Amino acid sequence: MFKSVFSPIKINQLEIKNRLVVPPMVTNYGNELGEVTDRHIAYLEERAKGGFGLIILEATAVHPSGIGFPKGVGLWDDRQMEGLSRLAAAIHGKGAKLAVQLYHAGRQTYSAVLGGQSVSASPVPCPVCSEIPRELTRKDIAELVKAFGRAAQRAKEAGVDAVEIHGAHGYLIGQFTSPYSNRRVDAYGGPLHNRLRFALEIISEVRRATGSDFPIIYRISVRERVPGGLTPVETLPIVKVLEEAGVDAFHVSTGVYGSMPYIIPNYYLPDGLNVEDARMVREHVGLPVIVAGKITEVVTAESIIAGGKADMVSMGRASIVDPELPKKSAAGALDDVRPCITCNQGCVGGLFGPEQEMSCLVNPAVGKEREYRYRPATVRKNCLVVGSGPAGLEAARILAERGHRVVLAERDDRFGGQFRIAALPPEKQPLAKLIRWQVDKAAKAGVTMKLGEEVTRQSIAEAKPDVLVVATGARPSTQGIPGADGPWAVPASMILAGKRSAGNRVLVLGGGLVGCEVADYLLTLQKTITIVELLDDLAKDAESSQRFFLLNRLKEGGVEIHLNTRIMEVVQDGAICEKDGQALVLRGYDTVVLALGYVPEDHLAANVPDGVTEVHVIGDAKAPRDALQAIRDARQLAMGI
Ligand code: SF4
Repeated sequence: MFKSVFSPIKINQLEIKNRLVVPPMVTNYGNELGEVTDRHIAYLEERAKGGFGLIILEATAVHPSGIGFPKGVGLWDDRQMEGLSRLAAAIHGKGAKLAVQLYHAGRQTYSAVLGGQSVSASPVPCPVCSEIPRELTRKDIAELVKAFGRAAQRAKEAGVDAVEIHGAHGYLIGQFTSPYSNRRVDAYGGPLHNRLRFALEIISEVRRATGSDFPIIYRISVRERVPGGLTPVETLPIVKVLEEAGVDAFHVSTGVYGSMPYIIPNYYLPDGLNVEDARMVREHVGLPVIVAGKITEVVTAESIIAGGKADMVSMGRASIVDPELPKKSAAGALDDVRPCITCNQGCVGGLFGPEQEMSCLVNPAVGKEREYRYRPATVRKNCLVVGSGPAGLEAARILAERGHRVVLAERDDRFGGQFRIAALPPEKQPLAKLIRWQVDKAAKAGVTMKLGEEVTRQSIAEAKPDVLVVATGARPSTQGIPGADGPWAVPASMILAGKRSAGNRVLVLGGGLVGCEVADYLLTLQKTITIVELLDDLAKDAESSQRFFLLNRLKEGGVEIHLNTRIMEVVQDGAICEKDGQALVLRGYDTVVLALGYVPEDHLAANVPDGVTEVHVIGDAKAPRDALQAIRDARQLAMGI
């Protein structure tokens, strides 16, 4: 099975046992000194143990002026070699190879992270980071070229098997190569051969520092997806020049910060976004090509490699979700592979959110590999879990895997709770993979799964569980708005679930993620939509890449939007609102849809019969939040019972 994926390959003199790559992904698991930490080692060692052939350590700064994240790793100092050599030993101990991605953030960072002004080819700010960088002098450039070489040498001395030079995603090397960011008039600007000079000097210096048989991979964004950015017209000649300069393999990706949502493609973008670009690069060079970009299943990886479109496949987010993906796939246990649902909620949202580190909605153990190992329960208990959303299913499975006797009761005729509804809007069907996996694994773990089972105080009293877990989710809120509880107001979930239909003109009350998604769904039914939102923008609760595509869809669909608008009353054919102190009357609609948030559905917890002493409330029943938090809570609870 998967003969192409599980065949070995060589990059320069390095033999790698299979074609599956954990690509460099920023975790922020390092420390303020730029060192690889034990946490980092545990995270990557788990992926090596799970069977990935090549692991590439995340963006590793070669110079203090190139740090992009407060706890990013670096190799500008000998002291940063100790953690790296422990990582190399750990990865080798599990049969995989380790590469380090060498990078300099250039203008794609912040003065708050650097403690000073960023640098770049030209004083042109990145549209995301917005700070004007200082233009590098010829002397600075020479210093940075040396820094790349010295960092590569350190990597080799630390026992690392290869380096990847990060020429993609609009970081410093890309800033020189691309006319989008390079406005220089000296030998490093202007025509392509000048813009490539920095990259070529780095390759030459890295080769000099590491020797002829040390593998050098070059990462490239074949298309930058910004006005004036690189396209294949330029990148295909570029890869040819880089091959002649001594690169041993290419790692094909896409985008720069200005087109960030394409770098880590979510469910709105097609699978294998960059595969055709990889094929073109492969046709231009005689070197192995690695392809990244929304490849989440090994079946897809096999067809890419067998079809000659790439030689290796990066399965970044899939490796976050299930470190054992290669082993399970090789054994044919595809249903056991925990699915990446391409939500970007934890891996991207976590990094750029308040926690500032990578996490995962589906796999709460990521980055906590050692702490989240669970052991068999010391006392076997009877557990009743009520509700089958992500929290209920996660808790039930782990309780059962730990040896408890578990019954899971769901009052609906299908499993999944609100998360099943969340998988219904256009393009969001990958979310349903999680429910399927959780249901399957819970059943395999021995959970007694009951559908259409309404749990009451009396049925709890009869069952007498040792542990009651209330995971009954949440119900739509009316925010106390007069008329919002009238029969004319239809909850968004009823529309999405196909339980209520909408007329031609629809007023959606609430422009958070749910309101925008129901509007997107109704656009596919060719309805005319108006959204009313209290805040100053739509979908502020959405992850940034999700929001980017969703709002574009609403814009293209011609949705009428009223921001900063307070709903005063909901009426049969619309709503009476207030905006800027003025009344705004929105009437004449066929359907009024409510998307005003949720309130916990926790009445069972408040009504527990005598004799049931251990009661836990998790997920939205505790407080309506996202599924990431719900699954995390469930995991923590179930490990401790
Ligand atoms: Fe995949 Fe979502 Fe986890 Fe990211 S957070 S790895 S996209 S499941």
